[in-house]
Order: sequence, then C-alpha cells, then structure tokens
Amino acid sequence: MGTDRIYLDWNATAKLLPEARAALLEGLELAGNPSSVHQEGRAARAAVEKARRQVAGLVAADPAHVVFTSGATEAANTVLTPDFRMGRSPVRLGGLYVSAIEHPAVHEGGRFPADMRREIPVGADGVVRLDALEDLLGEHDADAGLPMVAIMLANSETGILQPVADAARIVHAHGGLLVVDAVQAVGRLPISLEALGADFLILSAHKIGGPKGVGALVSRGETLMPSPLIRGGGHEKGHRSGTENIPGILGFGAAAAFAVEGLDARNARIAALRDRLEAGMRVAAPDVVIYGEGGERVPNTTAFTLPGQKAETGQIAFDLEGIALSAGSACSSGKVGESHVLKAMGRDPRLGALRISLGWDTTDADIDRAIAAFAKIAGRRKQTGAAA
Ligand code: PLP
Repeated sequence: MGTDRIYLDWNATAKLLPEARAALLEGLELAGNPSSVHQEGRAARAAVEKARRQVAGLVAADPAHVVFTSGATEAANTVLTPDFRMGRSPVRLGGLYVSAIEHPAVHEGGRFPADMRREIPVGADGVVRLDALEDLLGEHDADAGLPMVAIMLANSETGILQPVADAARIVHAHGGLLVVDAVQAVGRLPISLEALGADFLILSAHKIGGPKGVGALVSRGETLMPSPLIRGGGHEKGHRSGTENIPGILGFGAAAAFAVEGLDARNARIAALRDRLEAGMRVAAPDVVIYGEGGERVPNTTAFTLPGQKAETGQIAFDLEGIALSAGSACSSGKVGESHVLKAMGRDPRLGALRISLGWDTTDADIDRAIAAFAKIAGRRKQTGAAA
C-alpha cells in the first residue's frame, strides 16, 4: 500500500496488527506438534491453548467450546448441517432458516440440501423480520427434526445490527438452534455468547487484524455438536481434524486480545469519524442515500448510494483518488454482482452501494480526504447528469 493511499475497506479485511504479526512469527518458530507429548509438543499445545482462551475472551465463551477452523467459511460449513451428534448418537435436524442478508458463507446453507432451506426476509430498514421468523418456525414440521436458524449479528455490507437476542428467544421457544455469524461484529461491539443466546458463533481472524485463513466455531455447550466436516486424526476434540495452524491460531489469539482491550474508547473514536464522514457527505450531496442511518449499526461502517451513479463507477473514481473502498458485494472473482442485501431490503440493486469501513488507524486527515474525494466525485456526477 503506497503511503498516499487511504485504506477504508476494513470490512473486507483489516490490516494485520503488529501484535498479530509478532504472534504469527512466534508460531512459526514453535517446532513441536501440539499433539506430541514431548516438551516441544507441549510448548506448542500451551501456545494454542493460550490463543483459545484469548479467542474465547472475545465473545465471553468457555475456551473448551472454541474449535479452530480455516476461517469463517469453514466454520459455517461445519455447523450448517442437518447431521448433528449428541455424544455418539446421531441427531437429524429438520431444516435451516437463514436471513436474506447473510454472507454467502452462510447464505449458501452449508451442507443442508436446497429443499431443507428457507429464507427469513428483512424489512426496508435492513433488519430481519422477527414476525416472519415466528411464522416460519410456527410452520416448521417438528417431526422432521429440530429447526436451525442462522442470523448474522452485523451485516457486512451495511453494518446494520440484527436483533439476535430476540431471535434467540423465538428460536428456543420452538426448540431450535441459533447460529450467529459474528464476523463483522467482534472488535466493533462487546459480545457475550450467553447474552446473545446463540448456540453457535462463527468468527474470522482477518476482520479483526489477525491473519487470513483462520477462524473459529464457538459453541454454548458440547451436548449437541455438528458431525465434523473435516475428519481424520480427531484434532480439536474430534470436531476438526488436521494438525493445527499454529501461526494462524496464535495470530488470531493476539488479534482477539487486542480487540477486547480498549474496545469502547477505540470505537467511540471510530464512530465519531464515521459520523463526521456522513455529515460531510450529506453536505456535499444532500441526495445521498445512507443505509441504516439513524438505526443501530456497527460504528465503523457506512454504506451509501449516490443517485445517478453506479457504485462500480464510484469505486473506480475513489480508487483514482487514492482511496480503497468496496462496491456492493465483491465476490471472489473480483466482479461486482448485484447486492442481495439491497435487494432483500427492497431497494433497486442496479446502482449498487458503496461501502466505506474504518479501522483503528483511520485518522481525521483520512476522513478529510474521503469527504473531499466524495464531494469531487458527487459533483462530477451532477455536472454530467449521467446515469452511469
Ligand atoms: N461472514 C461474514 C459476515 C463476512 O464478512 C465474511 C468475510 O467476508 C465471512 C463470513 C467469511 O470469512 P472468511 O474469509 O474467514 O471465510
């Protein structure tokens, strides 16, 4: 990244924290296999268990209930399955209900076949409709097995928070299990697994300053667990086989510890920057549509549409101004697809939305430059009056 570049795409991935980098390097130097009983093995095991406590601390969970994975996508594919186990006995779930605004990692439904999946709609405010959840679960055929529900805590595109604790009460009243993708919420809000009432949480290291390619599935208990996605030597208490990614796990642990320390002060500063950015955008383009404005959002995210300008066009213009941000949902091919989140909110997805997401090293000067770039780009749009 050039020194004159401004990185405002922290929801896509955060910058690697120096603390995480140091822990990664420490992990590379650990020679032992955590499953070995000799001294080298025990040292590696101790390091992994320290990281497990740090990651558990991020969501106030029991470290014994943290299963490390290769990322949130793997955690989602592990837990989203009709095949569960209670101890050694198989338990078959009866269906999956996913919110319409989930990240594809969850929205795709993991190992549930298509005919066992239903979608929970969201309102125009981008918030999942609990009345619809209630209706769907009311119609659920309990004889087929327990229902599973997946609702994210903070939406990655808009930052809009979802009423997870209320959803948990509804899900549990119907005897179901609640899976919460907390990837975009950790490090941006204080989180407690217990207070949320989630049965499973999905986490990823790289959104909080850890390395890419490591995440976790956190459970409330151990009574009912998904049949493993990755089988083999029985690592992670049989829930995820394969020799542990020690550098990645240690890097995740260090990032989790950072995310918890000083969270409130850091986020108050970031929220003030985001609010100033939105106020500046509003002055420069009074017609800008800011999604979730006035509602509950994570403090670092703003998603908006400039009427008359495609988000893709805006993204390139910002890039030329030295600012990295996202347009809608960037899929792995790098192409910009129509946002299923905007569609689910009943918005016209054709123009798409731009997303600016801030992080711990975003400065006042960055926001000044972002506002200036926004004013220039929005002004140009007015001059040409073009719809593309
Ligand atoms: N869930 C959400 C909300 C995300 O934003 C992402 C990352 O884009 C994922 C899941 C997938 O995470 P990972 O890259 O660790 O597989």
